[in-house]
Amino acid sequence: MLVSYLKQTEELFGEELYLSKTTKSHEKNKNAKSDLNIFCKEICECQKCSLGALRNKFVFGVGDPQANLMLVGEAPGAEEDRLGEPFVGRAGKLLDKILTAINRSRLKDVYICNVLKCRPPNNRDPLASEVEQCEPYLQKQIEIIRPKLIVALGRVAGTTLLKVEQPLKGMRSKLHDYYGTPLIVTYHPAALLRNSGFKAATWEDFKWIRSILDN
Ligand code: URA
Repeated sequence: MLVSYLKQTEELFGEELYLSKTTKSHEKNKNAKSDLNIFCKEICECQKCSLGALRNKFVFGVGDPQANLMLVGEAPGAEEDRLGEPFVGRAGKLLDKILTAINRSRLKDVYICNVLKCRPPNNRDPLASEVEQCEPYLQKQIEIIRPKLIVALGRVAGTTLLKVEQPLKGMRSKLHDYYGTPLIVTYHPAALLRNSGFKAATWEDFKWIRSILDN
C-alpha cells in the first residue's frame, strides 16, 4: 500500500516527497493531567522576572487537560492574582457565558491560561522581557495538551503570540499558525464589557471556532 501511495505521489509531484502541511498531531496525550500537574509544580515558584516578587498567586491555567480548545489571554488581573485562576473576574464571567453558547465550559473541552503567569502591576501590558521568560511555559502547556485550536483573546495576546504589530481587526478572521497549532484571534471579553458593539463579531468568531472544533 505504501509503495503504491509513493508511486502515485511521484507521478503527481515528481521525486520530491509531498508531505501535507505540518500541523501537530491531535492524538491526545493520555498523561496530560499528570504532566500538567508535574509541570505546574516545577514552575510555580518562578522568579525569572520581576513579576515573581509581586504576585500573590501564580496563575498556571485551568481546564480540561484533554481539551481541543485552548484560550489564551495576556496576563492575570487582580482577581486572578488573588485566586490563582485565569479569567475569574467580570470578563471571565462573560467568557463562561460565551463558552456555554458553544456547548463548552472551562472544565469541558477547554483549557484557559495566559501568556504571562503573574500579574503585571496595574494591569499594564506585558513587557517583551517578561514574555521572553514566560512564553516557553505556555509552549510547554500546548505541547502537553495538544489542542486542535488556540484562540488568543484580545489584541495584546494576539500580537504577543504572533510577533506582529497590528490592530485586532487586522488579526481577526484569519487562521494563523502558532508553532504548528492553528490560532485565531478574537476580542478580549473585557473589550466586550466596554463596548457591546463587538459582541456580534465575537459571536461570528465563536461560531467559526465551533465549526473548526466540530470538523
Ligand atoms: N485578562 C486576561 O487576559 N487574563 C485573565 O486571566 C484575566 C483577564
